[in-house]
Amino acid sequence: MLKDLRINNSLSGKKELFEPIHAPFVGMYVCGPTVYSDVHLGNVRTFVSFDIIYRYLLHLGYKVRYVRNITDVGHLVNDADAGEDKIAKKAKLENIEPMEVVQRYTQDFHRVMDQFNALPPSIEPSATGHILEQIELIELLIEKGLAYEVNGSVYFDVKAYQKDHNYGKLSGRKIEDLLSNTRALDGQDEKRESVDFALWKSAVGTDHIMRWKSPWSDGFPGWHLECTVMGTKYLGKTFDIHGGGMDLKFPHHECELAQSVGAHGHDPVKYWLHTNMLTVNGQKMSKSLNNSFLPHELFSGDHELLERPYSPMTVRFFMLQSHYASTLDFSNDALLAAQKGYRKLMNGLKTLRNLHVNEGEDATPNEKATAQINQICDNCYRAMNDDFNTALTLGHLFNLLKKINNLHTQNLTISQIGQEAFDRMKHTYKTFVLEILGLKEESNLDIDGLMDIVIKEYAAAKEAKNYDKVDVLRSSLKSQGIVLKDMKSGIDWAYEE
Ligand SMILES: [Zn+2]
Repeated sequence: MLKDLRINNSLSGKKELFEPIHAPFVGMYVCGPTVYSDVHLGNVRTFVSFDIIYRYLLHLGYKVRYVRNITDVGHLVNDADAGEDKIAKKAKLENIEPMEVVQRYTQDFHRVMDQFNALPPSIEPSATGHILEQIELIELLIEKGLAYEVNGSVYFDVKAYQKDHNYGKLSGRKIEDLLSNTRALDGQDEKRESVDFALWKSAVGTDHIMRWKSPWSDGFPGWHLECTVMGTKYLGKTFDIHGGGMDLKFPHHECELAQSVGAHGHDPVKYWLHTNMLTVNGQKMSKSLNNSFLPHELFSGDHELLERPYSPMTVRFFMLQSHYASTLDFSNDALLAAQKGYRKLMNGLKTLRNLHVNEGEDATPNEKATAQINQICDNCYRAMNDDFNTALTLGHLFNLLKKINNLHTQNLTISQIGQEAFDRMKHTYKTFVLEILGLKEESNLDIDGLMDIVIKEYAAAKEAKNYDKVDVLRSSLKSQGIVLKDMKSGIDWAYEE
């Protein structure tokens, strides 16, 4: 039962039993960020979703190689192979090197991932580090008659590909529609069909700074190519999972799929997974509607739509409350509720640490009570096995928390459920909360605020000449590495030196 994992495959549109190609090894590729600006919350949701998928696969005992790339060239502002490269544009705007842009936003991305407690991938390759391999793949596609060169640029020939294959099979788009949507080319376009896409773009005669030598021209690779090349290089010509945000399904993933099938003659990926969008008060999150959030705005509360700041773990918990393939609506109320829920779960951890068998407890385990605990623990696995349903998993964890709280208030005793079920409950709760859902205890305690309370107590004890209490307070604080100082200006505290 525990390994009966089913996942919704975007390619078939069905929930399928997860059977890795070379168990116990699992290869997973997730399209990473284009590092030209701060990572926004919609992207964070995608990466947090795949972090949970990664964590659960590891928990099930698979040896996972998780590849998540950094796009540092080739992603143009326009999907139709026109416009500037996003990174080059930003570099020009700020009058710095493109690689400075890449460095700055890669570091920002890593910092944000760390704040959200997302595990780093096994390999994080970059597009500019794989130019040679990309050129090789283009040569192979030209050789197979699936790509053509015009003025130093090379395009994938979708019509030629369509003779033996099915362009559109991942996104569900119909090739006839895509071709008929091709309005009269405006003469500027060198492509044979507008559905064709760039594999290599010539930079000759442009002020494009990022360029490499190739058999066709000095230029740069098309965006879709890097993922095909890096996925193949690190995970093989067929691997288990390819993921990304839903907005990447077309054209990015459809193009990746066509490049791989065209080059290698077979499908590259067994399971395609797509995460859904974030909405804000029911509206699509977008920069133009001024309702998109950056992580640091959430953490500081510095945004006109936010009533207060929210911590990274509150936001992570909030994301867990919906299935990765459903939309998730962002609002102050929802975030406040998430903060409550997150703190409840953390209090459960604290309660568990202090639960012990009471002396003199000798009740024999009650079969029904034991069965209930086991049932809830099984349910946690059932929910995760159902396409990583974190929302359901949380529901079961809260049921487990009720039992933990009953033990705490002694409405239930450890003897009644039996030591074995108690150990399982403890292990399941901790493992799911910390290891699988990736939540962690966040201390937002304000040490100055806490010390103010203690110092008031201390001053009152001194005033009342209660020297026993004064001594107890001093020695208790000392054991925490804190000393009190009687100053002319009043009582102060410091870390013990
Ligand atoms: Zn990609």
